[in-house]
Amino acid sequence: MEKILNYINGVLTEPFSGAYLENVNPAEGRVYSLIPDSGNKDVNHAVEAARRAFTKWSATPAEQRSAIMIRIADLIERDLDKLALAESIDQGKPLKLAKTVDIPRASANFRFYATAILHTASDAHFTDQQAINYTQYQPIGVAGCISPWNLPLYLFTWKIAPALAAGCTVVAKPSEVTPMTAYLLSQLCIEAGLPEGVLNIVHGLGAKAGQAIIEHPEVAAISFTGGTATGKKIAATAAPMFKKLSLELGGKNPNIIFADCDFENAVSTSIHSSFSNQGEICLCGSRIFVERPLYERFLTEFTARTRALVVGDPLDEKTKVGAIVSEAHMNKILSYIELAKKEGGTIVLGGKQITGTGRCANGYFVEPTIITGLEHLCRTNQEEIFGPVVTIMPFDTEEEVLEYANSTTYGLAATIWTENLKRAHRVAAQVKSGIIWVNCWLFRDLRTPFGGMKQSGVGREGGFEALKFFTEEKNVCIKL
Ligand code: NAD
Repeated sequence: MEKILNYINGVLTEPFSGAYLENVNPAEGRVYSLIPDSGNKDVNHAVEAARRAFTKWSATPAEQRSAIMIRIADLIERDLDKLALAESIDQGKPLKLAKTVDIPRASANFRFYATAILHTASDAHFTDQQAINYTQYQPIGVAGCISPWNLPLYLFTWKIAPALAAGCTVVAKPSEVTPMTAYLLSQLCIEAGLPEGVLNIVHGLGAKAGQAIIEHPEVAAISFTGGTATGKKIAATAAPMFKKLSLELGGKNPNIIFADCDFENAVSTSIHSSFSNQGEICLCGSRIFVERPLYERFLTEFTARTRALVVGDPLDEKTKVGAIVSEAHMNKILSYIELAKKEGGTIVLGGKQITGTGRCANGYFVEPTIITGLEHLCRTNQEEIFGPVVTIMPFDTEEEVLEYANSTTYGLAATIWTENLKRAHRVAAQVKSGIIWVNCWLFRDLRTPFGGMKQSGVGREGGFEALKFFTEEKNVCIKL
């Protein structure tokens, strides 16, 4: 069985303990590879390698850092098919989605920051002809980057690329649930000639390897994406050590549909925003609010199109909804469907586990599920389910839907559907979310800031902001 290895100091290496964890292919419900069960010793080794590499990497001209990162981007593109297949097997997402979204975006992340670093600027202020002030941004040191399982290589590289571009060295940990593409990335970094110690990838459990990265005194900045409960733990550990912290956390995103919307666009995009990647995208709209005059028509059409979604083997071209990432996560989703029933919800469609066929007979599949008849404050409508489950509710006024939309502790993303421009701006200004899409979903310009409000996180990824995150800011004042 294939053994994944850590990537420390430029070398693929076994964990000190010699212990491995099982990596499951969720479409088959079968262990297919082993991943290092790393601990303190591995993390210490990785941080030490990163610390040693920092002096040289941070002083490497931006043009050279950029050239190596572009080589990595090119290699990701070259291996698109192999990486997409690995990601599909690891996570259960349809192969087509991995090929068209995840892996191209991983390459784009490297390319974006490799070129961004060539165009940075800092501020200077001439103070009343008495002094010149200018701001320096210096790489902060060793950065810790920890990512979740839902968009494995996409989110892993979204953190690593700006850190490396800014001149930091990195100790990174992918999710133990989906480690394969990070392992393949480490092989590509070796091929690209990334100097030893600049990027170190330690595999293993969050509470063990992840926690060791957060606690390490030499890790100066932490960029974390994952669940809100984990984010709280990380913040509690990192805050007394005064580490720089960026937290991208959970969501319970509203999808607000006004009666004057472009109906076809709203329905077809809502199918994507509800069920893409089995609903396991932090930006999926899991609460759909429809203005009452359109409610019945929307529900009928949305239900019909959801029924037509092909659920099953992620490697099959026709599949639109693949496997849930793990058995534990599938059970969590199913338990929320049971909760919705107890809370008085009506299961309009789906609601059950599906048994796959052929090689997928033991896989983890859940029917795309539509629930109506729930109050906006019930647990089903307040807690993140992170699966192919949406609730749909009617509303009568803007005030009412804003109250619904803003009623959760989260504030990650929102979608608004209306052809009324004034209303679009008015509602967008009042929805408490870090990102709001009007008449579209998941459209991203990498230059724009990304991140959540409330318990969806603190800090922003994306654009030059992410480069700045991995630096220390200093003002130099010269008296004339
Ligand atoms: P998770 O919080 O369980 O794990 C995320 C990562 O943190 C994993 O690598 C895990 O090993 C590690 N980890 C766990 N405990 C840790 C600890 N004590 N110290 C350090 N690291 C630790 O999240 P998940 O289940 O992998 O991912 C799903 C969650 O991620 C959802 O809540 C989803 O909304 C969220 N998410 C948010 C965004 C965003 O941009 N806001 C993007 C994707 C996913």
